[in-house]
Amino acid sequence: MEKISGNINSTCVEFKDFKNYDGQVIPVRGYIHRIREMTGFSFVILRTARDVIQCVYAPEFSDYRWDAKLCEEACVEIHGKVVSSKDAKGNDRYELQIHDIIILSLPAEPLPIVINKKQLDNIQLSTILDLRPVSMRNPRERAIFKLQEGIQRGFRDFLTKQGFTEIHSPKINYAGAEGGTNVFKLDYFGKQVYLAQSPQLYKQAMVGVFQRVFEIAPVFRAEHHDTSRHLNEYISMDFEMGFIDSFEDIMNMETGALKYIMELLKTEYSEEVTLLKADIPVINEIPAIKFMDAKKIIMDKFKYKPSDMKDFDPEEEQLLGKHAKKEFDSDFIFVTHYPSKKRPFYTMDDPADPEYTLSFDLLFRGLEITSGGQRIHDYNEQVAKMEKCGMNPEEFATYLMLHKYGAPPHGGLGLGLERLTMHLLGFKNVREATMFPRDINRVTP
Ligand code: ATP
Ligand code: MG
Repeated sequence: MEKISGNINSTCVEFKDFKNYDGQVIPVRGYIHRIREMTGFSFVILRTARDVIQCVYAPEFSDYRWDAKLCEEACVEIHGKVVSSKDAKGNDRYELQIHDIIILSLPAEPLPIVINKKQLDNIQLSTILDLRPVSMRNPRERAIFKLQEGIQRGFRDFLTKQGFTEIHSPKINYAGAEGGTNVFKLDYFGKQVYLAQSPQLYKQAMVGVFQRVFEIAPVFRAEHHDTSRHLNEYISMDFEMGFIDSFEDIMNMETGALKYIMELLKTEYSEEVTLLKADIPVINEIPAIKFMDAKKIIMDKFKYKPSDMKDFDPEEEQLLGKHAKKEFDSDFIFVTHYPSKKRPFYTMDDPADPEYTLSFDLLFRGLEITSGGQRIHDYNEQVAKMEKCGMNPEEFATYLMLHKYGAPPHGGLGLGLERLTMHLLGFKNVREATMFPRDINRVTP
């Protein structure tokens, strides 16, 4: 029997490394993205995991004899010599002179949509979503989710460097964390349980162990409406940190994380940033404004009449986005001190004015992307707050173990990955930034 050594056979050289292989014959693997026949030679455009590479086939410098079966979306291994050539604008670039093509598989049918254009023009979003495994072969569609990988990677790298431990909390839970009616009920061997609305209760429990924790995972919201910013399952990037001096520590940590993420996108995801024309925000300091002051600006400066004095509607969020841009030249703005009535039971009230809380939202280009704040850490205070909210503390006995046996002052936040991606890329609909969206009308593919 053969023995498996763990030596990784790296057959795919990334395009950005071609300069190190100038003049050498290398193998690359991928799909035939496009074939363009010219007089005496052909361009064979190869789509690899991340790149689209120009390969040139001419019988005079190749042993390969063209196979009539070769078509777009064939899976192939191409052996070719890396050569530099100038593009139309005179920039240096590399292409492959094809020495050989090995066909690994051929498509059984032509694709249902044309994917080898720059953009999936004139194709409805619903069709793009119905055909996700295929539509994402389009380099631009693919780039959205490569960039999204970068956001998560930045969040993870930054927090790990700050001493956070990555955790995974259960998604099948005995109680909802965020309250309200938007919780999915599930029959669990005859018992009613819920799909996690957030990792809140568990990340707080782990503050009692690791002090600083984070999680990047799906959460579920039974939102019964069809909006451009709500999904029924989304990826929440959460963190929770102990031993804080004030809830501003949390906002500072988020600001640091966002700066780090944007830098990472600029350096390691520059191809995707360019392809998507992503407008990467410059973050120096993020302005913060109190909830009631924000309401005043909305009413006095923008002459807008809020329908609810305890929360913002989407229009008000947009106005605050405009205000942040105009007054502070910032794409972000923190709104702090939300009314107590609108925040969950674990939120700490402001000792200076208990009608309000030590909490915040972060708006990005006029859209809420984060909610966070300081949590109650005193046992008696938390029990009293639960009772005031009409909850039975006994049902939350395991949650309250943190408080009962000693909790540090702590707080944290949840940041919606799809919403951040959406506004980074200027999308109108959060589904464009979701690989396989779940909404009120969609559970497939
Ligand atoms: P909204 O008021 O916009 O409905 P929320 O205040 O109910 O959001 P939170 O419970 O504060 O949402 O969730 C924290 C973050 O998670 C939000 O700021 C947002 O980025 C994201 N988020 C919340 N609900 C959804 C959803 N249904 N779809 C996509 N992202 C969401
Ligand atoms: Mg919120």
